[in-house]
Amino acid sequence: MDNQEPILRVEGLTIDIPMAKGTLHAVRGIDFSLRRGETLCIVGESGSGKSLTSLAVMGLLGKTLKRSAKTLSFAGIDLMAQSERDMRHLRGDRMAMIFQEPMTSLNPAYTIGDQLIEALTLHRPVSQGEARARAVDLLGKVGITAAESRLSQYPHQLSGGLRQRVMIAMALMCEPELIIADEPTTALDVTIQAQILRLLKDLQREMNMALILVTHDLGVVARIADHVAVMYAGEVVEWGPARAVFDAPNHPYTRGLLSCIPVPGKTRPGDHLGSIPGIVPSLVGKVEGCAFRGRCAEAQEACAGPIPIHDQDGHHHSCVHAQAQTQGREIPA
Ligand code: ADP
Ligand code: MG
Repeated sequence: MDNQEPILRVEGLTIDIPMAKGTLHAVRGIDFSLRRGETLCIVGESGSGKSLTSLAVMGLLGKTLKRSAKTLSFAGIDLMAQSERDMRHLRGDRMAMIFQEPMTSLNPAYTIGDQLIEALTLHRPVSQGEARARAVDLLGKVGITAAESRLSQYPHQLSGGLRQRVMIAMALMCEPELIIADEPTTALDVTIQAQILRLLKDLQREMNMALILVTHDLGVVARIADHVAVMYAGEVVEWGPARAVFDAPNHPYTRGLLSCIPVPGKTRPGDHLGSIPGIVPSLVGKVEGCAFRGRCAEAQEACAGPIPIHDQDGHHHSCVHAQAQTQGREIPA
C-alpha cells in the first residue's frame, strides 16, 4: 500500500468569493493528498475554509464561487476538467459526501427505502430487489435494528441519530472510494457522536474507502486519523501523520488549538478544540505574510513576509520558525 498512488490529490487549491468590497480569498493555495483506505482529519476554527474545501472536491461549490487548482484529481480523473454531468455521475457513486444536517441529503417526501434504493439504482444496473437487499444490509451495518421495517418510514419519523445513520448508509450504497464527512455528528448527542464516528471508521476500513473527516472533536481525531491537516484562514498551516502532529505540533496555531492533550485513551469523545484569543484577519483583497501573526505570541517581523514551509519526514508546517518554540504538551489553554 505504501507506494500506491493517492486516490485524491489536491495541489494549490484556491477558492475566491466575489464580494461587494473585493474578492474574499477563502481558500488560499492548499495541498493535501489521500490514499485508499486512509483517514484524513481536517481541523480548524469555524470559517477557516474546511467546508468550502470539501465542497470544492465534490464539485458542489456553485457558480459564484471561483475554484482554481494546480491539481485536483480523483482516482486519476482530473476533477477540474469534469462537466457538471460527469460530476453528478461521480457523486453518490465513486465519491460521496455526508453533511452535518441529514435533511440536506434526505428528502422528506420519500421513504427511507425509496431513497436508499434509488441511491444505488441511479448508478448501477441492479434490480429493485437487489438494491433493497443492499439497503437492509447497510442499515444493519450502521446499527439500525429491524432494518426491513424502517424502509417504509419517512425521515421525520426517525430521531436525529437514526437519520444520520441512514444518511451514512445512503452515502455507502455504491461503496464509494472516497467519502467526505463534514462535521457529520455535530448536531447530535456526544455519546451518539462517538458511536456514529466509530461506525464510519469501521465501515471505512471494511470497504477500504478513503475518508476525509472534518471535525472539532479531538478525541475522534486522535483515535481515527492517519493524517491531520490544520486549517487556518484559508490555508493548511500544518499537516502530516496524526501521531507526529499531535506529539510534536510545530505551528503556534496548532499548539494553541490543542488546549487539551490529545492522546489516544486520554482525550475523550466530546473534548473540543481550545479557543485562541484574537480574531482572524480579513481575507478580502491582498493577504500577505502569516495570517496568524496578529494572534501569535511568537510573531516577529519576518512573519509579515513570505512564509517558508518546513518538512520533517512528511510532517509539514508553514511558519518562520522551523521548530516549535515551546513544548507541544505544555501549551496553556
Ligand atoms: P469552515 O467550514 O471552516 O467553518 P467555510 O469553508 O464554511 O469554513 O467558510 C470559509 C469562509 O468563506 C468563511 O469566511 C465564510 O464566511 C466564507 N463563505 C463560505 N461560503 C460562502 C458563500 N457562499 N458566500 C460568501 N462567503 C462564504
Ligand atoms: Mg464548515
